[in-house]
Amino acid sequence: MTPFLLVLSSPSGGGKTTIARALLQARSDVGYSVSATTRAPRSGERDGLDYHFLSAPEFERRVAAGEFLEHATYGGNRYGTLRSEIDRVLGGGRHAVLDIEVEGARQVMERMPNAVRVFVLPPSAKVLVERLRGRDTETPEARRIRLARAAEELLAVTEYDYVVINEHLRDAVNEVAAILDAESSRVARRRDLTGFVEILRQGVAAAAHGESV
Ligand code: 5GP
Repeated sequence: MTPFLLVLSSPSGGGKTTIARALLQARSDVGYSVSATTRAPRSGERDGLDYHFLSAPEFERRVAAGEFLEHATYGGNRYGTLRSEIDRVLGGGRHAVLDIEVEGARQVMERMPNAVRVFVLPPSAKVLVERLRGRDTETPEARRIRLARAAEELLAVTEYDYVVINEHLRDAVNEVAAILDAESSRVARRRDLTGFVEILRQGVAAAAHGESV
């Protein structure tokens, strides 16, 4: 199995982070790409686990040093995927889950076109608004900005490979898991296939000549 990148995007409040976390709990073949950001930690968020929290100058220094696979600005803060995170997860033989917004996802596709992109939609506008309000992590003004951005981001769904409607968390996680499994079976991703098929072929050809296999 050749591990690959799984890009999960959705408007803020769509549930992609929850899905990503549940997927990580459920499967040992996926790892989370911990993003870097300049935004302040929310209560309960841990540096190095939820995000690498960086100062703005440190973030820009790392951009200039080419350390990011992609980076974007969202709500006045910087966010980006460190190449070292991707190397860590893929190097460990696991698929890397990236929970990123659409601009960053576009950059990933330019640089790593074999990545799989999944767009997570809320079942309704009402649910999206309620989820954003319910988590109570933003000021009303920041929430308004996120909703305006969400309206724009929804248009990007057609750029993605798959769409999952996140009405019930368990179903949504199962759907993303099914996408992972299907993509893992793609012939193009099976680098081990040629050798395996050759051994099979030799055995079958030998049997055709009456030899025991
Ligand atoms: P939040 O502040 O709610 O954690 O994240 C805000 C937005 O930034 C979300 O859409 C989230 O997916 C996105 N985001 C998180 N990490 C990254 C990243 O590394 N790169 C990009 N481009 N977006 C990110």
